[in-house]
Amino acid sequence: MSEADCIFCRIARGEIDAEVVHDEDDVLAFKDINSKAPFHALVIPKEHVANLEEIGALPDTVVKRLFEVASAVAEKAGVTEGGYAVRINNGRDAGQEVFHLHLHVMGGKRLGMP
Ligand code: 5GP
Ligand code: ZN
Repeated sequence: MSEADCIFCRIARGEIDAEVVHDEDDVLAFKDINSKAPFHALVIPKEHVANLEEIGALPDTVVKRLFEVASAVAEKAGVTEGGYAVRINNGRDAGQEVFHLHLHVMGGKRLGMP
């Protein structure tokens, strides 16, 4: 999957619409199209990395921002008090479908494992 075809790269470039909840230089957050919780957003680095094995390609500041933005969008959505889950599906057995690293931020209901 090249960056030209990657669906999340295309969202980051504005070629595909998404319900954006946070946008800054290197990090974007948008609502998941198939939400599994009352609040379900995805936080991505705008630079394409497929998974955690490639995270070394990102500047440390961007890795940190992914988590700060996860917290910020949860706060904005009003789910911080009740709590929320931040999840990365990494690879086939975890059910990763889009091979552009992303954090799921889910809240607004009781969430368990897995
Ligand atoms: P994964 O299983 O890779 O961790 O999660 C991929 C997520 O991306 C899924 O929850 C799926 O609903 C979401 N998704 C896939 N395609 C699109 C899209 O075009 N737009 C948005 N907003 N979400 C998408
Ligand atoms: Zn990508």
